[in-house]
Amino acid sequence: MTRAHARVKALNALTPSNDGNYVLYWMQHSQRATDNPALEHAAARANECGKPLKVLFVVDPTYPEANARHYTFMLEGIAETKQAVERRGIHFALRLGSPPEIAAAEARNASVAVTDRGYLRHLAAWRDQLAEDAPCLAEMVEGDVIVPVEAASDKLESAARTIRRKLHDRTDEFATLPDTVTLEHKAKGLDHADDRAIDDVAAFIEALEIDASVGPVDGFKGGTRMAMARLKAFADDALDAYGEGRSDIVNRNVSHLSPYLHFGQISPVTIYRAVKASGAGDDDKAGYVDEMLVRRELAVNFVHYNKDYDSVSGLPGWARDTLEAHASDERPAVFTASEMEHSKTDDPYWNAAMREMRLTGYLHNHLRMYWGKRIITYTNTPGHAYRTALALNNKYLLDGRDCNSYANVGWLFGVHDRGWPEREIFGKVRSMTPGGLKRKFDVDGYVKWANAL
Ligand SMILES: Cc1cc2nc3c(=O)[nH]c(=O)nc-3n(C[C@H](O)[C@H](O)[C@H](O)COP(=O)(O)OP(=O)(O)OC[C@H]3O[C@@H](n4cnc5c(N)ncnc54)[C@H](O)[C@@H]3O)c2cc1C
Repeated sequence: MTRAHARVKALNALTPSNDGNYVLYWMQHSQRATDNPALEHAAARANECGKPLKVLFVVDPTYPEANARHYTFMLEGIAETKQAVERRGIHFALRLGSPPEIAAAEARNASVAVTDRGYLRHLAAWRDQLAEDAPCLAEMVEGDVIVPVEAASDKLESAARTIRRKLHDRTDEFATLPDTVTLEHKAKGLDHADDRAIDDVAAFIEALEIDASVGPVDGFKGGTRMAMARLKAFADDALDAYGEGRSDIVNRNVSHLSPYLHFGQISPVTIYRAVKASGAGDDDKAGYVDEMLVRRELAVNFVHYNKDYDSVSGLPGWARDTLEAHASDERPAVFTASEMEHSKTDDPYWNAAMREMRLTGYLHNHLRMYWGKRIITYTNTPGHAYRTALALNNKYLLDGRDCNSYANVGWLFGVHDRGWPEREIFGKVRSMTPGGLKRKFDVDGYVKWANAL
């Protein structure tokens, strides 16, 4: 099996069909034209079959937990990707409706149906449906991790330390980028009747019936060009101080690439190679790789192998037991979900973090940890705390609804962590206090900054 093929899996036992009008690439997760193994695999299939290539992207206005903030960022990326794909003589069909139904209809006229790989439950179910409905070979190409999830591990891993070596052992094998395939048959005669134009993203969004209560943000513009510019600036200017600067909530020496990774607008392999090639110190590079490879792909492992990844029943047994044992401990102050959402708690640090999330769609990792841990004390039960943290995370953060969202909200409640000395409310789950934040950072400076947003 070649490197390229280790990312590719057949989803059904059929062969390419001679009757198809095109090879279909149903783009879902890898929403980019650059360094996209699914796109290049589909292009190679098109040449093998002697057909043009059609890329399908379906905007689902009812997508779980998505709002105008997420749609705007995603569609800025899709508008750019569409143009880049079309320049190669590929048909880019942008549609509106139910993704699996439209993909099934398009697959009926295809010689081969290719898709990429997202890990959430509904994305896996959509792929299963494609495999069943396609009258031809259906394939999946896994291009949004460095090491494919099953190649990294065949089981649910309990911590970063249990998967780190496994990932590093296979990184060289997988940290390669696909060659760009020249299409031999340009997509000239394919039917565009149902396709949507996207010349103006704001107008496109306005016409959609979506949740507009959370609006777009100025600080993040979607698309591969922006992702590459951020990567370059980070690798040139900031990576060198990542080791020390990463945890600093004020100076924030971080890449801000998580929204781009979430929407597949940049490949993690592209990032990995740029980091490795940069002139930064070895410790800084290793620190970054530990987040972008180990932590991120541990999160993918968590979602892939834990069917309860988005509920308290997916937490480790020891954590559920200890939280349950402390469920009736008195909470110093309890707030409703709405009070929390609108920064009306008794803690100015917490309120500032929530304000930053609401207004910018981003929050620094250390503040996410503090923010989430405090929710455990602000609610009456661990279950309510879990649901509140996950809902706010996914509503406001541009990188929400990601494998990282589920693994990290889980981390607040013990996932990928160990037991700590027992204390009120948290039991043996790690706690964080305002005092800790104050000792380590200029948190008052942070509050001032956030309140001025
Ligand atoms: C309570 C909580 C909720 C979180 N929710 C999300 C979420 O919804 N979506 C999300 O992508 N991340 C989430 N994270 C992880 C992390 O905070 C963000 O990935 C990171 O802050 C994004 O900023 P960055 O790209 O500038 O990070 P950088 O420090 O530049 O890191 C580079 C990349 O490494 C990965 N990474 C960094 N930290 C982690 C981590 N702890 N776990 C997994 N991968 C990591 C991300 O892909 C990130 O883009 C959460 C963390 C916590 C504690």
